[in-house]
Amino acid sequence: MYHVQYHQFLHEMPDGTLKMTNPLTGRTAWWVPGRSGRPIENRQTEYARGEIREPEDYCAFCPVNLRQTPPEIDRRIYDGNQCRTVSRPMPSDMGQQPFLFRRVANLYEIVTLEYWRRNYDYRGLARRREWAAAYKNDPAGREHLLELIRTKRKNLRAVGEDMPEISAEAMLTEADSFFLGCHQLISAYRHYRVGADKSDTIQLCGSGCMTPDEHFEYFQFTADSIRDIYECNRYVRYVVAFQNWLAPAGASFDHLHKQLVGLDDWGTSISREVLASRSDPNFYNAQVVNFSSYNNLVMAENQHASLFADFGHRNPTAAVYSKSHHLRPFEHSPEELRGVSDLVHACHAAQGPKMSCNEEWYYQPRDCLEKIPFHVLIKWRVSNPAGFEGGTRIFINPMRPTDIRDQIVPELFRLRAEGRIAHTIQIAEECPVQPNSLRYNR
Ligand SMILES: [Zn+2]
Repeated sequence: MYHVQYHQFLHEMPDGTLKMTNPLTGRTAWWVPGRSGRPIENRQTEYARGEIREPEDYCAFCPVNLRQTPPEIDRRIYDGNQCRTVSRPMPSDMGQQPFLFRRVANLYEIVTLEYWRRNYDYRGLARRREWAAAYKNDPAGREHLLELIRTKRKNLRAVGEDMPEISAEAMLTEADSFFLGCHQLISAYRHYRVGADKSDTIQLCGSGCMTPDEHFEYFQFTADSIRDIYECNRYVRYVVAFQNWLAPAGASFDHLHKQLVGLDDWGTSISREVLASRSDPNFYNAQVVNFSSYNNLVMAENQHASLFADFGHRNPTAAVYSKSHHLRPFEHSPEELRGVSDLVHACHAAQGPKMSCNEEWYYQPRDCLEKIPFHVLIKWRVSNPAGFEGGTRIFINPMRPTDIRDQIVPELFRLRAEGRIAHTIQIAEECPVQPNSLRYNR
């Protein structure tokens, strides 16, 4: 499967049907004439300006509701000159200090602290346990934790979970997951976009609504957090990083956030990529990035990364590949990570905040020897699988990769001219598209 000839990844039939195979996963998707059309925007994300309240208080991630999320593992702040990270603040420290991003435990973990405790006898690092003890000893901290656990148990009871009454001490033990757990969230500072345009409406603040500088801070903070999860739990083999934007993409809040989940597994997608990488040490150049440029799918490029329209996915997908020989996001130099961030930001800005999407990060797991370049997929959630897909595992994708390119590229030119994306980005025919530009295998 991994040695198919180039033309077989994208095969156009005489009637115009395009059969697409993803070189990394072997998954198949078809574009069928007459079933296309521009994807509809998923839901209302614009609101009358008058409805906007400052400070924002729309959801648990908004600044007014700091106590509705678990204690902050760290917070990224801007102090007027530069950004810095404040780690493990106590309740009295949280106050009014404005933040750009916050990292907290997920109240509803997928892989729980209990999982790590029971299967690995994981106890967490001393500095985290000390923080937990100090927080519980602080009267405001103790009340915060009890309030969270009560709310969590009430919500679980409401969906039918068996949640017997337990003592306050047992609740505080349950709160250990906030300090030691490996499923975390990074939330951004804004719920709605700061009113930059002159219209009477305002939009939810998506990734593309930030400035390139802010988006880079978001990226760097996420990369640092991945490293921290590895450092805190030696049993973690891979930290999955993703962002679900809006309800069709699985987000339970409209407030921008990323999720990080430490796993003792690589998951199916990375395992398939490992096989592909093993089959050819130049796989990601030859079969992925070179191939995209030979088919004129490259949308933008800079010194450190490339953005192109990808194919063979269930949904229209854009891909950003790092050119760095550093394989993991937290091993990238700031300049390299900035290059990747700028293209991911530009893609979000060009598709607009109304487009529900999943942003997924892929990179070399901790215990993996095969080389995998850091890459980010942005998948637009516009198609609903039907019976045909279920029976065949062939997905009908409403857009060809050229349709994605033709939608994004004019927007990139416009946004760059307006100074809303990084000016260092080269677009479409400006891109050098050097063959073998990924240096991951050197
Ligand atoms: Zn919010």
